Amino acid sequence: MSFIEKDIESLHELLKKGEITSAELIKESLTKAHEVAQKTNAFVTIIDEAKPTEVTDDLLSGIPYGVKDNYSTKGILSTGSSNTLKDYVPFFDATAVENLAKKGAIPVTKTALDEFGMGGTGTTCHTGVVHNPWDYKRMCAGSSSGSAASVALGVYPYALGSDTGDSIRKPAAYCGIVGFKPTYGMISRYGLFPFASSLDHCGVLTRFVKDAAIVTDGMKGKDPKDMTSWDSKDIHLYQNLTTNVAGKKLFYIKEICDIENYPNASQELKEHLENFQKTLHLCEKLGMEVTGVSINKDLLNAIPSVYVVISCAEATSNLSNLTGFIFGPRAEGSNYIEMMKNYRTKGFSPLIKRRFIIGSYVLQKENQEKYFKNAQRVRRLIVDEIKSYFQKYDALIMPVGTGPAKLLEGSKDLLKDDTDVLEEHLQIANFGGFPSITIPNGFINNLPVGVNITGNCYEDQQVLNIAYALESEMPYKGQLAKEVTE
Ligand code: GLN
Repeated sequence: MSFIEKDIESLHELLKKGEITSAELIKESLTKAHEVAQKTNAFVTIIDEAKPTEVTDDLLSGIPYGVKDNYSTKGILSTGSSNTLKDYVPFFDATAVENLAKKGAIPVTKTALDEFGMGGTGTTCHTGVVHNPWDYKRMCAGSSSGSAASVALGVYPYALGSDTGDSIRKPAAYCGIVGFKPTYGMISRYGLFPFASSLDHCGVLTRFVKDAAIVTDGMKGKDPKDMTSWDSKDIHLYQNLTTNVAGKKLFYIKEICDIENYPNASQELKEHLENFQKTLHLCEKLGMEVTGVSINKDLLNAIPSVYVVISCAEATSNLSNLTGFIFGPRAEGSNYIEMMKNYRTKGFSPLIKRRFIIGSYVLQKENQEKYFKNAQRVRRLIVDEIKSYFQKYDALIMPVGTGPAKLLEGSKDLLKDDTDVLEEHLQIANFGGFPSITIPNGFINNLPVGVNITGNCYEDQQVLNIAYALESEMPYKGQLAKEVTE
């Protein structure tokens, strides 16, 4: 085992004792990144010139990490995995990156994502498709695909992700690792390329729950540059981590989780849901109470449509600043309208353009009330319903997706009419700004699957503790991707 595959605490101890230096860790990390780059296609940039930092008492000092390429990094190419920004080098760091730099953390890669975070397959990055290290024919899910693949391969202990619908938590499940997005506003979004501002969250992908707590502590904080950020200086997630969760009350949504609701269930789905039931028993073994609750099916079925309307509308507005004049490669044309048209037409992939059309449609004056405003109302109903359960229960526990990573061949990532609520329910945590974590939950056909825990706003500690307790009783803690050979 190389050093870089260890957890943050162990690396810190080794650095403190002088058994390894920051420079050596960077070298290990970069070597590994280069080794896996071609097969995974996980990186937009490998930062070969990364410099070591002084090892201080800070757990993150001297340790390398990966940054999703939709975070602005000063002097380092930041593309959002889009041709429209293929040459964009910001002159400032995103606040999250800046906060980590203050602690001595060292970015060594910029990881590939679905273009601007709009996707769930890792197939729409301008540098090509990202492959799942457990089985290279499969997807990592998205959009934090490159971050998930590289953490699962042990390139570093953690990589930053962003999550608008499930983009940290789904790739974490498909790659057999941990993915955490804290409460909305705990981490400043300043410098994160906006996709849908009311749903966007910064967060992290790791292999250990403890590392997710350490990195979130390092990234968080009120930031005058993000008016939705809030003061969390009295919150110390790492320090207060405990496996003592006896007496906690969990709920799951029966309509989504019970196998009886899927008369045509595949063997894979059956196993996935049985696996989930086993984890519920484990929760009980840990002294927690688990209850299946029933939620109005109409409300649940509305989740994907509400997500599409709100996220496409916000994305259309947010990305209207991409004209090709201020950032990105300037396009040809005899006047500014022609230049802008050429830049956007050639620069964006068809999937993004499709979303802009949906967004423009629902924002049109005559459609706003019917679609956009109604989606906002239904979002509120969904959030209120879930919040009413958080009055009685400490957290929601749910399986992630319908099973393990899907094959790349044939995947299109269009927003479909028949979208399964089981695939999309993680969006609930974005609607409400809830803290939400995915941890590994075993294997189906030797491929990893995940389980998710979501809590009420500001209950980040509780969500992490429940995950920490479960992780400690499961044999998947800290696992690295092992290629499945048939
Ligand atoms: N898969 C979802 C989408 O395509 C979520 C993306 C995200 O969380 N950034 O919009």
